[in-house]
Amino acid sequence: MTVCTRFAPSPTGYLHVGGARTALFSWLYARKQGGQFILRIEDTDLERSTPESVEAILEGMAWLGLDYDQGPFYQTQRFDRYKEMIDQLLEQGDAYYCYCSKQELDDRREQQRANKEKTRYDGRCRHLTEPRTGVEPVIRFKNPTEGDTVVHDLVRGDVVFNNGELDDLIIARSDGTPTYNLTVVVDDLDMGLTHVIRGDDHLNNSPRQLNIFKALDVQPPIFAHLPMILGSDGARLSKRHGAVSVMHYRDEGFLPEALLNYLVRLGWSHGDQEIFSTEEMIALFELEGVNKSASTFNPDKLLWLNQYYIKESTAIHIADHLEWHMAQREIDLNQGPALAEVVAIQQDRAKTLVEMADNSRWFYEEVTAYDEKAANKHFNQDAVAVLEDMMARLGGLPTWEAEPIHQQIKDCATTRELGMGKIAQPIRVAITGSTVSPSIDVTLKVLGKVRVMVRIASAINWIQDQV
Ligand code: GLU
Repeated sequence: MTVCTRFAPSPTGYLHVGGARTALFSWLYARKQGGQFILRIEDTDLERSTPESVEAILEGMAWLGLDYDQGPFYQTQRFDRYKEMIDQLLEQGDAYYCYCSKQELDDRREQQRANKEKTRYDGRCRHLTEPRTGVEPVIRFKNPTEGDTVVHDLVRGDVVFNNGELDDLIIARSDGTPTYNLTVVVDDLDMGLTHVIRGDDHLNNSPRQLNIFKALDVQPPIFAHLPMILGSDGARLSKRHGAVSVMHYRDEGFLPEALLNYLVRLGWSHGDQEIFSTEEMIALFELEGVNKSASTFNPDKLLWLNQYYIKESTAIHIADHLEWHMAQREIDLNQGPALAEVVAIQQDRAKTLVEMADNSRWFYEEVTAYDEKAANKHFNQDAVAVLEDMMARLGGLPTWEAEPIHQQIKDCATTRELGMGKIAQPIRVAITGSTVSPSIDVTLKVLGKVRVMVRIASAINWIQDQV
């Protein structure tokens, strides 16, 4: 039997990190087992579903690299099939028309509350033989009233539900559109799902779905419900806790592998290992390793992982991702060195790609202004002499490499009996506009001789214009 898992988001917003964690675990399980991973868009709620949300989900999946073997399937394109299955349930007596009006249901619920009873549909239309006129009926599933339904959950073990506690749920609204529990069962059946891995907010739906599978006389999938993700205050992770959209993390300068690595540890562990490459995740992932208890989202740890991946990845790989951030800032990469070279000298310091992009602008754009504090401190007549001396020294270098550049700065410092900083800082302000750059020799090397010479000359002019 080929393992088949799915991610089945409702397109009513962006891709949330909790959803991405569900997608990741389902994807990992399929990949580990050499199975199939399906993307299904559950868009039957016509009022809340939007094409923008579908786009956001597809974009998030693509950015994370969670590729699917089948889909995306759209539930709105499968209404005929749902109707067929609803008709089948009606025909075999496992579903029935219910004519109770909203008002009647509300009144009864009120009464149940007053009697301190559990509020539920009382099943009174189960035995109707004649339709009621003037009311568009809904269709309800005839849930068993006796015995238990056991969800054999791979994470939580057996979870027992008393059938008497489960309502006769509505499977088609009065306008004929099918509801969630029905569509999920039909799809999971038709799409050959073997494992349903989803958030534990759906645990209560599972016995209902199992009963529908049973009524259809088919084998249900195996369930695994993932524990909740909490914010630092112990409440379910939501917008209140800050960024929860996957693409927001891209915008904030995170690498997808850092987010994936972070997400895989949210509710799953392999000993106390923290760093997992995607290949390793696939090799090691087991549903048995999923925790039963909720996990807490920790942005500091995610930042730490991001810094780790920025440092450890190849410069080319980082440059691929940084390119997007540079484009956001409308920086023309043709006006400076190869981006991978700019990355290579900054990998050790940057925590995010946003930070790296902001610090890389001057490699591609002329310095049009100097930071006031930096200029006040480092641009004076002494600096003019230093900069002129350095221009001559650098201009005479036969090769433009970090090592001879470093030697010239050192020699200049020795000759002038100055500390290295007194040489490096004015150069830094001249070429970057501020006092922040990677180590000066590699910075000059990467920026290129012509740009360095032009910028030092401009700085000298600027200083002289000040007096
Ligand atoms: N569409 C549901 C949701 O977004 C998931 C359904 C399921 O996994 O069964 O919460």
